[in-house]
Amino acid sequence: MGKITGFMEFERIEEGYKPVSERLKNYGEFVIGLTEEQSKTQAARCMDCGTPFCNNGCPVNNIIPDFNNLVFEGDWKNAIEVLHSTNNFPEFTGRICPAPCEAACVVNFNDDAVGIKSIEHAIIDRAWAEGWVTPRPAKVKTGKTVAIIGAGPAGLAAAQQLARAGHDVTLFEKNDRVGGLLRYGIPDFKMEKTHIDRRVQQLEAEGVKIRTSVLVGEWPKDSKITNWAQETISAEQLKKDFDAVLLTGGSEQSRDLPVPGRDLEGIHFAMEFLPQQNKVNAGDKLKGQLRADGKNVIVIGGGDTGSDCVGTSTRHGAVSVTQFEVMPEPPEKENKALVWPYWPMKLRTSSSHDESAEKGLLQREFAISTKAFIGEKGKVTGLTTVQVEFKDGKMVEVAGSEKHHKADMVLLAMGFTNPVATVLDAFGIDKDARGNAKASTDFTGGYATNVPKVFAAGDMRRGQSLVVWAIREGRQAARSVDEFLMGASDLPR
Ligand SMILES: Cc1cc2nc3c(=O)[nH]c(=O)nc-3n(C[C@H](O)[C@H](O)[C@H](O)COP(=O)(O)OP(=O)(O)OC[C@H]3O[C@@H](n4cnc5c(N)ncnc54)[C@H](O)[C@@H]3O)c2cc1C
Ligand code: SF4
Repeated sequence: MGKITGFMEFERIEEGYKPVSERLKNYGEFVIGLTEEQSKTQAARCMDCGTPFCNNGCPVNNIIPDFNNLVFEGDWKNAIEVLHSTNNFPEFTGRICPAPCEAACVVNFNDDAVGIKSIEHAIIDRAWAEGWVTPRPAKVKTGKTVAIIGAGPAGLAAAQQLARAGHDVTLFEKNDRVGGLLRYGIPDFKMEKTHIDRRVQQLEAEGVKIRTSVLVGEWPKDSKITNWAQETISAEQLKKDFDAVLLTGGSEQSRDLPVPGRDLEGIHFAMEFLPQQNKVNAGDKLKGQLRADGKNVIVIGGGDTGSDCVGTSTRHGAVSVTQFEVMPEPPEKENKALVWPYWPMKLRTSSSHDESAEKGLLQREFAISTKAFIGEKGKVTGLTTVQVEFKDGKMVEVAGSEKHHKADMVLLAMGFTNPVATVLDAFGIDKDARGNAKASTDFTGGYATNVPKVFAAGDMRRGQSLVVWAIREGRQAARSVDEFLMGASDLPR
């Protein structure tokens, strides 16, 4: 433990942000990480609790008290060893994880949590800067072959684990670049894509073969989900060619809003809008990019994806940005006695909300439901809404609350319903009640589907979730695949 009285002496230190005026000029990251001294002070607040709830609150079970102590001691090299022992990509989570560990931190019970995520961020950025992150190719090869379908965080983590266990891993990705939603979805201002490129180089040096623009299985006609594949490989072919197959294709089917006027021009899924900006940032030339410049934008959906649409629309130069959430406005602060150490329901205001509010553009509406889209000459010009309330667990409309809102662009960010069914069907995979690939997470035989030698993990198995959960599932599935191929596995779970 760093400093026994640290949690009483030092206040939590937040990471800094570049000023709004500066960050709205581009799509670059704007978080200013902690200095070495600040990291040491932050780490000194860790109480090294007998039962570290943070370690359990973190989906990859990062060994948080240990790396906090190492940072306090100035032993950054061992800190990254501890961090990498549970998390393949701390630079992803250190930037975009919502940090359930901090909700579970014991100091958080009656004070501000230790800034665990900021310490993780500092450790991995220092490790890259010092040249401590290097390829770790397997010393012994097994001669077994594994195909992984989908190069999001689940697929990348599994590929790294399996390659390090000595298997010949081929990672197939339908899009033109690796990263899944980290690449096409999550805006560059939350995470710049060079972080993925560095890991791709590391994976290739560890022997992973990466085949982009290759779709495996079948794709639905007229789907609006990004698919830049130039080549298709059948599920049957893949099963013949590889000793094991792991499906990590994500949960990409966006929830629609089939109300009158839905077919008007100007209404788009968030996942049509956001990936285009990622592509432009990567230097690609797009014809007719969906842009919010000069428009009144309404974002339907109050979650992370909606907030990313707010941030991107603000950067485009929208004249107003309104975000709808169907649920009532949550309290600003949680009742910790009731919810700790779990993830609390409270009002979340993101950096994108702050930017848009500072520019005078943002309006957030709660307990609101869209009844119809209105248009002229085939183009959306607005929508009608009603306020809703919950009675006996049912959502009911508030009489007389109908309202018209002006909109030149509507972005649907209401979550994702399930993975693309045709891909699972091509493999003959059983689905659960929500349409996800059916597979348990049991210690033995977990992540195996009903189809022999085919496994599933990440959002494709658990439904749309978080990057840190995808990394956990990729790691655990890798262990199951290794066990299936070799009869036993030394990979951590
Ligand atoms: C806009 C947005 C913002 C988000 N923000 C955050 C955040 O701030 N923090 C956070 O923790 N999480 C966030 N998430 C959630 C997070 O990105 C996902 O939970 C995570 O990426 C899931 O990882 P995955 O590897 O399971 O799937 P994905 O990242 O979806 O990757 C799946 C990959 O498989 C490919 N694929 C699918 N089918 C095939 C096929 N048949 N053949 C070949 N390739 C295929 C896809 O093209 C994709 O690249 C966000 C999600 C969105 C949409
Ligand atoms: S991965 Fe997320 S939950 Fe785990 S320690 Fe990092 S910020 Fe916390």
